[in-house]
Amino acid sequence: MISRRVVLHFPSELIDQPIISNTVKRYNLEFNILKASITPEEEGLLILELKGDQKEYDKGINFLLKAGVKIQSLSQDVIRNEERCTNCGACVTVCPTGAFKLDPKTRYVLFDNEKCIACGLCIPACPPRAMEVHF
Ligand code: SF4
Ligand code: SF4
Repeated sequence: MISRRVVLHFPSELIDQPIISNTVKRYNLEFNILKASITPEEEGLLILELKGDQKEYDKGINFLLKAGVKIQSLSQDVIRNEERCTNCGACVTVCPTGAFKLDPKTRYVLFDNEKCIACGLCIPACPPRAMEVHF
């Protein structure tokens, strides 16, 4: 059993189709929606946690790709430029997965890359622009 967090981008023509329910049923996956939104360009954005057998998970991802869903690669894409970070804490409440934590003793803001799902919400929220996306 594996568990992966993925960011899915749905083009406008796919938004009203039951692609996710078909995928999880067909490949026996469990899912948990972490975030869902529609961008001004009418693209659907879905951040999911998917759990299941590795082979079935891989098949499910291929099924989504073939259907036209774009899948963003994750955590390693968002990094913190430590030289820029001022430990202001603005990112702590913005992050939907709790990837930032304020250390009560040192008052430093710790960043746990493993929890990051690359949603990008911290990037505009960071005053000195310390959070960077790397593709
Ligand atoms: S918002 Fe930016 S500068 Fe402030 S703690 Fe978070 S990463 Fe550091
Ligand atoms: S991109 Fe930023 S806000 Fe989004 S999950 Fe990663 S650390 Fe949290």
